[in-house]
Amino acid sequence: MQKIREFHRQSVQDRDAFWAREAQRIHWETPFTQVLDYSNPPFARWFVGGRTNLCYNAVDRWLDTQADQPALIWVSTEVEQEIVYTRAELSREVNAAAAILQQLGVEQGDRVLIYLPMIPQAAFFMLACARIGAIHSVVFGGFASHNLAQRIDDAEPRVIISTDAGSRGGRPIAYKPLLDQAIAQCAHGPEHVVLVNRGLAAMDLTAGRDLDYATLRARHLDAQVPVVWLESSSPSYILYTSGTTGNPKGVQRDVGGYAVALCASMEYVFGGKPGDVYFSSSDVGWVVGHSYVVYGPLLNGQATVMYEGTPVRPDAAILWRIIETHRVNALFSAPTAIRVLKKHDPALLTRHDLSSLDRIYLAGEPLDELTGQWLSEALGKPVIDNYWQTETGWPILSAQPGVEEIPPRFGSPTVPVYGFDVRVVDESTGQDCGPNRKGVVAIEPPLPPGAMSTIWGNDERFVQTYFRSFPGRLTYSTSDWGLVDDDGYWFILGRTDDVINVAGHRLGTREIEESVNTHPAVAESAVVGVADQLKGQEAMAFAVLRNPALLDEAGGRDRLEAEIKRVIEQRNGAVARPARIMFVNSLPKTRSGKVLRRAIVALCEGRDPGDLTTIEDPGALDQIRSVL
Ligand code: AMP
Repeated sequence: MQKIREFHRQSVQDRDAFWAREAQRIHWETPFTQVLDYSNPPFARWFVGGRTNLCYNAVDRWLDTQADQPALIWVSTEVEQEIVYTRAELSREVNAAAAILQQLGVEQGDRVLIYLPMIPQAAFFMLACARIGAIHSVVFGGFASHNLAQRIDDAEPRVIISTDAGSRGGRPIAYKPLLDQAIAQCAHGPEHVVLVNRGLAAMDLTAGRDLDYATLRARHLDAQVPVVWLESSSPSYILYTSGTTGNPKGVQRDVGGYAVALCASMEYVFGGKPGDVYFSSSDVGWVVGHSYVVYGPLLNGQATVMYEGTPVRPDAAILWRIIETHRVNALFSAPTAIRVLKKHDPALLTRHDLSSLDRIYLAGEPLDELTGQWLSEALGKPVIDNYWQTETGWPILSAQPGVEEIPPRFGSPTVPVYGFDVRVVDESTGQDCGPNRKGVVAIEPPLPPGAMSTIWGNDERFVQTYFRSFPGRLTYSTSDWGLVDDDGYWFILGRTDDVINVAGHRLGTREIEESVNTHPAVAESAVVGVADQLKGQEAMAFAVLRNPALLDEAGGRDRLEAEIKRVIEQRNGAVARPARIMFVNSLPKTRSGKVLRRAIVALCEGRDPGDLTTIEDPGALDQIRSVL
């Protein structure tokens, strides 16, 4: 591990020289005058004074050498369609999208919200925003009206890009009614909505506001929209992520730092080079979709595969079929997807020619040892677990085959990635824990290029949420427990807070509780994440009713459970729907009124609830035991 350690050491100890060198990977219209301005901690400004553009670096910069080579490969098993866009065709679509935005009055700094399934227009409009300096906010298509309304109100987008419907398992899932409901709840609705009509579901249109994408596209198809050169730390996008409150945080990212960090990671972490084909099966609404479906591969001159579909339809060989057809070099997926594949015929894993594939990357949730090993042995390919967060934008812990090959250790995302001065620290003092001692995974600021610059519109919340966990120290807390073993391999041991991870989807239990509590019969509730073999975790809800007699009515319990699940589905989307809603007379709380979630989780998982000296009413736990 000598080389990888030395590389990491340089990146944190000789930071400016390291990043000045990496910055040469991208085009700067105006060179930067300072690598890092850290005069106002913890706010870091990278490549100060430099002017660049994400769209130019992802699209235009490659037109000379790769105009006719695939850039965006769209595969949909939902609507049985495949389209390969060359870099020149991608450029044409992105320019048309940028011209549409400009026609609608979108200017530098304006927000554009993108609420789309995995269709190419999501990438076109993201890149179009980047081209003209507009700030995109992509909202995961699986989220419903309440999530969407919160994000509209926070970012106040001038324009929303959406569609009639997505599709899941071959069945259309309407988007437009959810969007209309969301806008109706908002204080700051958009001026215009551009709708990609896929012909999957009927749409009600609002005259004057709703516009047809195909009509606008036809009008602007030959437009050449000039690139707006942006100062490196200008905002490029906002991506909301769940935390411990009911209000998601708008992670804000810059332009120059993000471009440099992603481009470098494509080589060092993902072993990619221009001309290679990269396939991330993540949804574009999550951070992986931003960094490694759209920006990363394109910035590095690679083609990217965008996939609309599930890993098991038409059969469990679909990922491998895509890899064979498009000669994919690296696959990025989530442990849940692989655990799903494990339930299918293993012969499907080797039915296709995977000779192009160098490695498989899995992230977003813990990768259990058995699953990692199973996949690696079945395919005879290295499987790399990497650990990161929406906030960091790219991996914190990972093997880095582009720096040095190191032996994998399943169950561990291996070692720190260059740029991240990451430590395991004591929960109360913030001091380094030393080997084999569990502590909080923390990053010494400044955060590297590409990590979040702040929370959209709320610098104070950025500081308070992430940098005030340890007394007297300004240290970024990941809110994950971790440990480093004697050999320097890292292990992630779960969250320190109430955030849960269902099939790689990060969800705030507080947000789900708020939805449960909107049901008129509910007095209060607690939502926890419980271990699940397939999805890693699943949500479980405990509700206290205003009038418990409702449960005694015929079918009362089932009706209430179904109604509450429906409320959650409508407000937060199906991903947030708990496995069960259970009814209790009271919740176990401390004397100061805090719900004892860890004790509830322990009972749900059949473990000992631990120290309960602070509990107000031990009867509440007994009741949870009995309903379980
Ligand atoms: P998100 O911001 O949605 O990507 O979620 C980030 C969180 O997912 C992290 O803080 C971890 O709790 C978890 N996570 C992501 N990747 C891994 C991994 N490779 N191993 C363990 N946990 C992970």
